[in-house]
Amino acid sequence: MAQLTRDDVLRALDQVVDPVAGRSVVHEGIVQGVVVRDGNVGFALEVDPARGRDAEPLRKACEDAVARLPGVLSVTAVLTAHAARAQHRPRPQEAAPRAAPAGVPGVNAIIAVASGKGGVGKSTVAVNLALALSRLGLKTGLLDADIYGPSVPRLLDIREKPESDGKKLRPIEKYGLKTMSIGFLVREDEAMIWRGPMVMSALTQMLGDVSWAPLDMLVVDMPPGTGDAQLTIAQRVPLKGAVIVSTPQDLALIDARKGIAMFQKTQVPVLGIVENMSTFVCPHCGTESHIFGHGGARETAHRLGTAFLGEIPLVPKIRETSDAGTPIVAAAPDSPESRAFMAIAEKVAQVAAAPSRAAPKIVLE
Ligand code: ADP
Repeated sequence: MAQLTRDDVLRALDQVVDPVAGRSVVHEGIVQGVVVRDGNVGFALEVDPARGRDAEPLRKACEDAVARLPGVLSVTAVLTAHAARAQHRPRPQEAAPRAAPAGVPGVNAIIAVASGKGGVGKSTVAVNLALALSRLGLKTGLLDADIYGPSVPRLLDIREKPESDGKKLRPIEKYGLKTMSIGFLVREDEAMIWRGPMVMSALTQMLGDVSWAPLDMLVVDMPPGTGDAQLTIAQRVPLKGAVIVSTPQDLALIDARKGIAMFQKTQVPVLGIVENMSTFVCPHCGTESHIFGHGGARETAHRLGTAFLGEIPLVPKIRETSDAGTPIVAAAPDSPESRAFMAIAEKVAQVAAAPSRAAPKIVLE
């Protein structure tokens, strides 16, 4: 059988008429970012935001039209706000304070793992924290919301594609975790060209159209930074709290402060700061050294009235196990590094189990 191509997909979509425009979605020019990968197809439909959920039948019709093509294994269509109109919408910063978004049925608590900038180990912490929560006996999920640089497929060495049960996508299970990532569906370089509204739409679907339930905890690996995309997620995803990852360097801590401020602005409780790459442990002699300075995150946490959740050393084993797709908490659950993640998970589990509007813990010295 000839390989499925982008043109095949566009031809199928050209048969779908948008009742609002009275012409095919391809003709109307609302089909964006078509990706085809080994029979898995993804694309976005750029619609006027005023149509909202009314565009859902159109989305479904497009998915169905593509699904009928021979050789198609999965189809994911996302709705995204029309760019020209989107500019007239209030920017997230100007939006009204967060009216607590509706929860995800069957998911008890959603926790964001965030960082003020990239490269501080946010994804490493998110995946190991999720594994540690699972080892505590909590039914745990991991949602990779880092749309522009999804790392969960690599960190958990997942190559298979999620399947649909007819209504929802089934998350992929690995090491007892249920996980979903845009990286399971589209290529990284394809996700890179998506714009903000498209990202939000993909995320909304990864929350609502995936059979997560039942879960005690859903850990969300946020995109790095504190821009509009992150702020929108903080506003629209029903987060029970956020964990901020920082390295001890001053610069990262300034960014961590921005991260904390962003969540406070949207009234999401900051559960605390994790200091990653805290100390360097020499792999040969076991000596610890503080190559970046040390204790900065603890001080910052105290100063900002949030909790200090713990520190993770800089050890090659953490990177190596991540690169091998067996994160340290799965590969070496009794190692000192895993124990550090377990201690953090215990704190997160406690805070997350507290009533929803619990104020962030204030530590006075
Ligand atoms: P982010 O999600 O913040 O961009 P990553 O989790 O991808 O960061 O980590 C960046 C790099 O640093 C990766 O190669 C990762 O394996 C490595 N890394 C993260 N934390 C540690 C650590 N504690 N010790 C050693 N390497 C680490």
